[in-house]
Amino acid sequence: MKALREELQGLELRDDEASRATWGHDESDQGDFLPELVVFARDAAEVSRVVRACVKHRVPLTPVGARTGKSGGSLPIKGGVSLSLEKMNRIVEIRPGDLTATVQPGVVLGDFQRAVEERGLFYPPDPNSAPNCTLGGNIAENAGGPSALKYGVTRDYVLGLEWVLPTGEVMRVGRQTIKGVAGYDLVGLFVGSEGTLGIATEITLKLLPRPRVVMTALLPFTDVLAAARAVNAVLLGGLLPRCLELLDDVALAAVKGKGVPFPEGAGAVIIAELDGSSEEGVFAELNLLASIAKDHGSLDAQIAVDRDQRERLWATRRMVSPALRELQKYKFSEDIVVPRSRVPEAIARFKAIGDELGLTVATYGHAGDGNLHTNVLYRSPADRPRVEVALERLMKETVNLGGTITGEHGVGIAKKRFLSLEQSPGVIDLQRALKVMLDPDVILNPGKIFPDA
Ligand SMILES: Cc1cc2nc3c(=O)[nH]c(=O)nc-3n(C[C@H](O)[C@H](O)[C@H](O)COP(=O)(O)OP(=O)(O)OC[C@H]3O[C@@H](n4cnc5c(N)ncnc54)[C@H](O)[C@@H]3O)c2cc1C
Repeated sequence: MKALREELQGLELRDDEASRATWGHDESDQGDFLPELVVFARDAAEVSRVVRACVKHRVPLTPVGARTGKSGGSLPIKGGVSLSLEKMNRIVEIRPGDLTATVQPGVVLGDFQRAVEERGLFYPPDPNSAPNCTLGGNIAENAGGPSALKYGVTRDYVLGLEWVLPTGEVMRVGRQTIKGVAGYDLVGLFVGSEGTLGIATEITLKLLPRPRVVMTALLPFTDVLAAARAVNAVLLGGLLPRCLELLDDVALAAVKGKGVPFPEGAGAVIIAELDGSSEEGVFAELNLLASIAKDHGSLDAQIAVDRDQRERLWATRRMVSPALRELQKYKFSEDIVVPRSRVPEAIARFKAIGDELGLTVATYGHAGDGNLHTNVLYRSPADRPRVEVALERLMKETVNLGGTITGEHGVGIAKKRFLSLEQSPGVIDLQRALKVMLDPDVILNPGKIFPDA
């Protein structure tokens, strides 16, 4: 480490206890893993320099954004260096004429969303951590959010990357144009690689024109399964809302008294959001949606009449995750996906697992695209063995329903023991081989994604 520090002279380095503790923790509940050194880079040349030095001295290196990750991707589980990209936070250029933008990886998503919206543009990926998470972290995790139902996830908006390989070589992959198919899709490979195949130092993103009208409604149901069935009925009814978010009874209990009040008797709610170019058109669609929901058991819909009410509704939705922890001190938050038609069945099976094991299971999230945040709550570390059983059964049920173990949070360390439930040994070996080809010394973010040997 001493030799490495000497090599990195001139860069901002920190190894005080407070910094090591800060960079040793994220939002994944996977525990703390302290780096020996935190290094801050300001441009691609500095990132490359840090990578080369770590390769030379065989020191593990973990790229870090804002540490909002939910699967432990930014945790330096083998020690070594945490490389913070947060100071590379410049929006390089927004090109309204091309509907594209170029950013550095440390730009906070919420800042970028505001900057493009001020110019009448729209960047749809909207993880609920937008006020804090960085675009580099979004690229690494292929982040999604409520509006993925209509607009897709981060990968659908990344056109090109400046990318530092795990050897330190800097390259540009992808393109600046909206279309293009030259060569293999390396952007597709690197987006979602969870900080294991290289480091994004510049990102070119696709933008859309900002929808002129957005309307949001709250649809209460007495029963979560009726609500889940209504989600499908809306889509089969020929509507494609921008979001269809579901909150079950436990999620509602968690936010009770904190955000917008929910109607008496509500055992679940759907937050539905539609957008388009005319008030009349969007309002007509919203009415159709409410009537389909009513046919499937919804109580009276409440429509957010202005931006302020919309914001309050979404703020309440964002409260669910922290509020669940106030119900019971500990929780594991999963983000499984099942085929859309199996969502009601999945929710019923997950609740049954909780009942059988005496654990509270909350389900909420992006039901419109089958992506459920199923949370297992527990009161004391002594409950942990039962929780582990619940998680394993939950993952097996998900895969049996034709689903996947993670829809947006990534595998990281949180789910690597479950990867083989979903992927064959051949597929896992192929990915390991790719990793070793690009990172022969296994320096970059080691110990992530793949099951321990
Ligand atoms: C309250 C809350 C709500 C959330 N809601 C959502 C949601 O709706 N949808 C969703 O998808 N996620 C959600 N998340 C998870 C998290 O915010 C996302 O995974 C986000 O993309 C992480 O960004 P970050 O900047 O915090 O990255 P970090 O947590 O710092 O890092 C995440 C991964 O990215 C890698 N990385 C970081 N920067 C780079 C880079 N420049 N190049 C290469 N690799 C890099 C790291 O090594 C790590 O593997 C939520 C988290 C919280 C706390």
